[in-house]
Amino acid sequence: VLKYSPFMVSFRKHYPWVQLSGHAGNFQAGEDGRILKRFCQCEQRSLEQLMNDPLRPFVPAYYGVVQTDGQAFNQMEDLLADFDGPSIMDCKMGSRTYLEEELVKARERPRPRKDMYEKMVAVDPRAPTPEEHAQGAVTKPRYMQWRETVSSTSTLGFRIEGIKKADGTCNTNFKKTQELEQVTKVLEDFVDGNHGILGSPFSILAGYGTRSDLKRKYVARLEELREALENSPFFKTHEVVGSSLLFVHDHTGLAKVWMIDFGKTVALPDHQTLNHRLPWAEGNREDGYLWGLDNMIRLLQGLAQS
Ligand code: ATP
Ligand code: MG
Ligand code: MG
Repeated sequence: VLKYSPFMVSFRKHYPWVQLSGHAGNFQAGEDGRILKRFCQCEQRSLEQLMNDPLRPFVPAYYGVVQTDGQAFNQMEDLLADFDGPSIMDCKMGSRTYLEEELVKARERPRPRKDMYEKMVAVDPRAPTPEEHAQGAVTKPRYMQWRETVSSTSTLGFRIEGIKKADGTCNTNFKKTQELEQVTKVLEDFVDGNHGILGSPFSILAGYGTRSDLKRKYVARLEELREALENSPFFKTHEVVGSSLLFVHDHTGLAKVWMIDFGKTVALPDHQTLNHRLPWAEGNREDGYLWGLDNMIRLLQGLAQS
């Protein structure tokens, strides 16, 4: 009804590109409704295969490789394109954030990283060992493992990487958000935050629904995703590491979740499959993806009921 009131007319604006993780230089605007991400073969292979998999509705549509200024990019759907002033959250899934092959490489030829040592010290000066302090450097898997233990990756099988809300506030400083209670608070704030008229009496008139509808929509979408994952030949045969779920909603009540970031999604050797819920032990390649998703769904279900 209110759609036709002159006060409710809203023009679709060109929103600024929002990126919650990774290097800023990795992305460029693509054609209308598409984005370009710096080429990575692993990601290309994954996106190509995912276009013919039950997971297709849960990943950005893939449009192949393009060259600009002599650089290669994977072109994919901009998942924010259909939203009006979206709130966005990136959750990195799984109980492990580095590939087994990275671990093997680091062991065979350790490459000390000063940048990672510095990031570590900035969060916790006591985290490096005396040897690491003396070197002023740590290896990448060491840094990644440490990040897992100070965040909810090790305890819940997912961690919040960043949130940008419709009101413009942005937070990517969740490195030490670990306790169930803290994680719940952050998720609650994301789904309960200020969504303009959503949650106000007018939202009913406008047919936009309420905040608890928003939580229920997210839960329903995640349950559909879980079912698709359990039926996906791709998922069964790939180690999925460092991949995120991108949550997006706006004041109209549109709420969706997609899988993104397949830069470290690698095929298993022939005939090997993963369960994605079993604990990791080196060699079994389990990534804890479904364990994390189960926990995420349970947590949001709790919020939807309150
Ligand atoms: P990292 O490995 O450090 O997480 P990355 O360079 O692999 O970074 P992604 O994780 O794929 O990059 O994406 C970074 C951010 O860009 C995401 O958190 C999200 O905010 C945004 N983004 C990525 N892909 C899309 C997409 N298809 N549509 C809309 N936003 C996207
Ligand atoms: Mg990412
Ligand atoms: Mg990545």
